[in-house]
Amino acid sequence: MMVQDNPFLALTAPGIAGLTPYVPGKPVSELEREFGISDSVKLASNENPLGPGPRARAAIAAQLDELGRYPDGGGFELRRVLAEFHGVTQSAVTLGNGSNDVLDLVARTFLQPGTESVFSQYAFAVYPIATQAVGATARIAEARDFGHDLEAMAALVTDRTRVVWIANPNNPTGTWLAAAPLRSFISSLPSTCMVVVDEAYTEYVSEPDFPDATHWLESFPNLIVTRTFAKAHGLASLRVGYGLSDPRVAELLNRVRQPFNVNTFAQAAAAAAILDREHVRASVELNRAGMRQYTEAFERLGLDYIPSVGNFITVDVGRPAGPVNQELLRRGIIVRPVGNYGLPHHLRISIGLESENARCLAALEELLAP
Ligand SMILES: *Cc1c(COP(=O)(O)O)cnc(C)c1O
Repeated sequence: MMVQDNPFLALTAPGIAGLTPYVPGKPVSELEREFGISDSVKLASNENPLGPGPRARAAIAAQLDELGRYPDGGGFELRRVLAEFHGVTQSAVTLGNGSNDVLDLVARTFLQPGTESVFSQYAFAVYPIATQAVGATARIAEARDFGHDLEAMAALVTDRTRVVWIANPNNPTGTWLAAAPLRSFISSLPSTCMVVVDEAYTEYVSEPDFPDATHWLESFPNLIVTRTFAKAHGLASLRVGYGLSDPRVAELLNRVRQPFNVNTFAQAAAAAAILDREHVRASVELNRAGMRQYTEAFERLGLDYIPSVGNFITVDVGRPAGPVNQELLRRGIIVRPVGNYGLPHHLRISIGLESENARCLAALEELLAP
């Protein structure tokens, strides 16, 4: 049946008819089923190739006897650890089933039909989805050099704007905003507009003028900073992230939060992971070496890429990326086409283990040979 013929469409809430679902990276199991292959590598969802560290693994194992019980709906211990880690009050912390959940809570709390959200071209795909799902209107600022153009974004803010979304660094481009311009942008926003700074990849960034927006929470009551355990902490499967904000904002977000949105294992693992500096350090170091592996190869192959400070790199393959992606899949290599972001000649590649990166690069070299 054609989607347009769906008789239930007429019954849906505002926004649903125009909604296009998020396209996730292809799971390894699906690829291997489809192509009848094994030993494939997934470099498509910006996961940590090392997975979680030993402290998180132990914390998960220690919770097995709790399987039959509901989780702590208030997430007391995890919120306590996060509050201490960031030097904020516990009432500033909102836990999410992944930080994606927190982004959704923001949309459901502050957006509705007739209001608008602002974000950049090539920004993370969840911002348009969260906006559309609640029937609000997206205002999209043209990018500059693939990154956020804060002046163009500021020009779209009106008295109807309730949320501005900023990923720093951004996915899928890996571009980033320095402290001074970002802070001055936030301070220029009207108090009727929330601003989300999505710091999903913050652990990977070492640029000296890269900001930690959590330090600005005291200055800006309309600021919400989101973090995740899915990337550098290697806990993507458990779905856990959080928002930090003014406690009055957190109180509103928690009104729409599902009572048990973060499961017991996720809470325990996250509380252990945030304190495992050694695992984050090893993950960041591996990423840095892998990033060098890709950029050196791309230079050698004459491929343009978007300089990235994240754990992924988006490369221009110089031709429609769809067929290249298909050929990579046949070779057991899963990367992410970004045509849905308006980048039809690019592929986003997550930095993996050295051997995984080498396989991906060898396949690309073979496929793109003149
Ligand atoms: C991966 C990602 C997230 C969310 O990840 P969760 O798994 O939901 O925590 C948020 N923002 C950006 C920019 C991301 O790339």
